Amino acid sequence: MIPFLDLKQVNAVYREELVAAATRVIDSGWYIQGEEVKKFEQSFADYCGTKHCIGVANGLDALILVLRAWKVLGKLKDGDEVIVPANTYIASILAITENKLKPVLVEPDPHTFNICPANILSAISKNTKAILAVHLYGQLAAMPEIMAIASEHNLLVLEDSAQSHGATILGKKAGNWGHASGFSFYPGKNLGALGDAGAVTTSDDELAQTIRALGNYGSHKKYENLYQGVNSRLDELQAALLTVKLKHLDVEMQRRREVAIAYANEINNPLIRLPINKGVSLENLESHVFHLFVVRTKNRSALQQHLLDSGIQTVIHYPIPPHKQQAYKGLAELELKLTVDMHNEVLSLPISPVMTGEQVKVVVNACNSFKG
Ligand SMILES: *Cc1c(COP(=O)(O)O)cnc(C)c1O
Repeated sequence: MIPFLDLKQVNAVYREELVAAATRVIDSGWYIQGEEVKKFEQSFADYCGTKHCIGVANGLDALILVLRAWKVLGKLKDGDEVIVPANTYIASILAITENKLKPVLVEPDPHTFNICPANILSAISKNTKAILAVHLYGQLAAMPEIMAIASEHNLLVLEDSAQSHGATILGKKAGNWGHASGFSFYPGKNLGALGDAGAVTTSDDELAQTIRALGNYGSHKKYENLYQGVNSRLDELQAALLTVKLKHLDVEMQRRREVAIAYANEINNPLIRLPINKGVSLENLESHVFHLFVVRTKNRSALQQHLLDSGIQTVIHYPIPPHKQQAYKGLAELELKLTVDMHNEVLSLPISPVMTGEQVKVVVNACNSFKG
């Protein structure tokens, strides 16, 4: 069986380094808010090109805390509208509603799966205060266009970079385009911890300070509380493990791109729509880090079964769009045809830095022998 993602294998490559890092933390006697977190925050801020990185407990908290800090700083208030892609993972929407802000769902660009700048423009109202740009499946959203719209309409931009660590447009990385960005280091993400972890990146000093306080009981100073905060901190152990994984991220990213290029060049089946063009070179893929390789097909269940019969595990990202979830009954009536179609047609093929050339061939052959 070719697993969708073999995390055991992914981490086994760095076993010695990971064990050494964990041992260092265990032996230090210091487990929360210490040198390991500081070191990782500095390395990740440097990696993204931002002034600050604030470690938090997970990716959802990262997004929640940015919006919460903007409320504390008077930049957002209850009921303000936040434009967000309709086809995102539900966490993006939860971060908005958790803060009593109003999500305004807009349709994606059908080729990139990312939010469509033209649709952002038509969704802007007098209550619009922010854009939550999600870099879905590993590909940066159209950030130059989105930042231009934001600056013209005086909107805040929060990036959801949970799936796109290291993706770049014009030399500028995910996490460094908007006014702030949330990252997830959930184990299956491209930069994955060995448990839950997340971070915010920003170059705004005041925002960084506020988020740091909010995630630590609202405290700037020990036992002095400025805000009614929460406990959302990155711990020393995960930070130490992430420092190891970060060093290898760019090599893993290139391997993911090579797999994606092989899929794009070798899968030849009119029933399967590919996410990138054939013949694209590594140099032209800087904006995509292939967290997922998502194809589209009209007969998804047959393709998924056919691949399973060929020993290939696939996953659907995502089977139900947020506005059709029980949790968001109030949004169910929205007309979002493209989003609904996508959710019925998308299928994610296995992709990871530890996939072998042999495994890629098996997937290619199975896709090519699919008859519908
Ligand atoms: C994974 C993910 C999140 C949430 O991250 P967690 O660490 O699981 O809380 C948010 N947004 C997107 C797009 C994600 O893929």
